[in-house]
Amino acid sequence: MLSPLEKLEHAFLSERQVEVWIKRDDLIHPIISGNKYRKLIYLLKKLKNDGVKRVLTFGGAYSNHIHASAYAFKKFGFESIGVIRGDELKNKPLNKTLRFAKENGMQLDFVSRSEYKKRNDLDYLKWLSKKYNAYIIPGGGTTYCSKFGLIDMVKEINQQINHFDYIVCASGTGGTFAGICAGLNGFEKAVAIPVLKGIADDVRKKVESFSDFKNFKIIEGYEFGGYGKKSDLLMDFIDNFYSDFGIQLEQVYTGKMMYALFDLIKNNHFKSGSRIIAVHTGGLQGLLKKDIV
Ligand SMILES: *Cc1c(COP(=O)(O)O)cnc(C)c1O
Repeated sequence: MLSPLEKLEHAFLSERQVEVWIKRDDLIHPIISGNKYRKLIYLLKKLKNDGVKRVLTFGGAYSNHIHASAYAFKKFGFESIGVIRGDELKNKPLNKTLRFAKENGMQLDFVSRSEYKKRNDLDYLKWLSKKYNAYIIPGGGTTYCSKFGLIDMVKEINQQINHFDYIVCASGTGGTFAGICAGLNGFEKAVAIPVLKGIADDVRKKVESFSDFKNFKIIEGYEFGGYGKKSDLLMDFIDNFYSDFGIQLEQVYTGKMMYALFDLIKNNHFKSGSRIIAVHTGGLQGLLKKDIV
């Protein structure tokens, strides 16, 4: 599942004497989030071997995880159930994320917000798993197997380039970032950009649960008001980035990560001569077009 590693060429970057390379996990599939695929793949192989037939997972109506996992479940031949936040959606037309999930064979079960809150509650999960006779995968798709898919990604980078100093990635649950950290050898530095407020501790715990890697930083302040919030500044950045580099970002994850990276470069956060890898985790299915926001 090799994805390309591309160098960004721009006068701003040469002036600042840093190199930025972008790991194109968005190209793993035209619309699914590459990181979601990486996080799931080892678990799905194992479940297949174990003879599991049906899986169940959770997500909101615009969830990249629901979108990507529905596709991956189908590809591996599982039946699947998506428990979706918001029972008010039950009788409404499906949005494009949910439509895609359904078209890929996912059965959608809309639950109230209060029921959805129980999604990490053991008794509730037991009940759900019995109800559907399904193996349960947490929302976001991070499991103990996830790191192996990300370790593979870091190995790919190491085959594509002979060294790098930093690797930067957007974080929601921190699973992707923790998996990346588990794949580093200790000389590189890893930087997480949280896309929602107040999650730095959770991200730190994730990293500690996946490996002993210590050389990481979680840089807050680039949440743009919180998860999925709209910002003109961010949308303009995404547009400009597209005109400069021909690479599409989106406003929930990769736009914030790249905005943060450029801002940190501007503020001389990285010493000159640094080679930085920015991970494009995908997520373009969630891209808002400016005129329909
Ligand atoms: C889910 C997602 C992330 C965040 O991944 P976590 O493992 O939850 O931190 C980053 N980028 C994109 C595009 C995603 O869909």
